[in-house]
Amino acid sequence: MSLAKRVFELHQIEQAILSQRNQADEIDLRLNHNSAYEKAREELSAAEQGEADLEGKYKELDAEAEQLRNNIQRINDKLYGGKIKNPKELMSFEQEAAMLKSNLVPKDDLLLAMMERLESRKAEVQRLQELCKTIEAAWNKEKPELKVEREKVVAEVAKLEKKRKEIAEDIDSSALSAYEGIKGRKSQPVVRVEQGKCMGCRVTLSISELQRVRGMSIVTCSNCGRILYLS
Ligand SMILES: [Zn+2]
Repeated sequence: MSLAKRVFELHQIEQAILSQRNQADEIDLRLNHNSAYEKAREELSAAEQGEADLEGKYKELDAEAEQLRNNIQRINDKLYGGKIKNPKELMSFEQEAAMLKSNLVPKDDLLLAMMERLESRKAEVQRLQELCKTIEAAWNKEKPELKVEREKVVAEVAKLEKKRKEIAEDIDSSALSAYEGIKGRKSQPVVRVEQGKCMGCRVTLSISELQRVRGMSIVTCSNCGRILYLS
């Protein structure tokens, strides 16, 4: 096999190693991250916070309403306790009770509306908790398969690395360093020659270039600088 063909093989193996490594990275990403789960967790956290805030406001308002109810009760006890006989005093207590009751009505209405909102928030929190659990269960089920897949990829990389080493040992150091240099500049550093043309840049090679490509040394395209090989 020609030296250039050997270099081409080396590049192919390196590409395969790169692709397998990318695959391993992708598997790692799927093992460690789950965007659907992360999104559901964020939504759950926001919903829980919303529920806690509303619950706090509800309790505050309920305490105020409770205070009013107690005051109304205390006045009613006085009004109907039979101890107060003075009509003026009775009237003043009646007026106070009426005022307190009128203050209580909007608070009770608001409490009812808040209770409804709180219930719907609780239902939302529960829905999101279940969604998180469902996604997590599916993810956990997928993980062992992903780990097996990852092991296969890692083994394949090891196999390819070994092959890469064998091929590289078969190539002399000047050809290797030429290859490494071109690899830094071109994504396809080694290309075929077809019908007298460089398949990297499609430029027709001269007769002398073609003759040199048929030889045993490394020849680069005078136009694009890639290593040429004949298949
Ligand atoms: Zn070329």
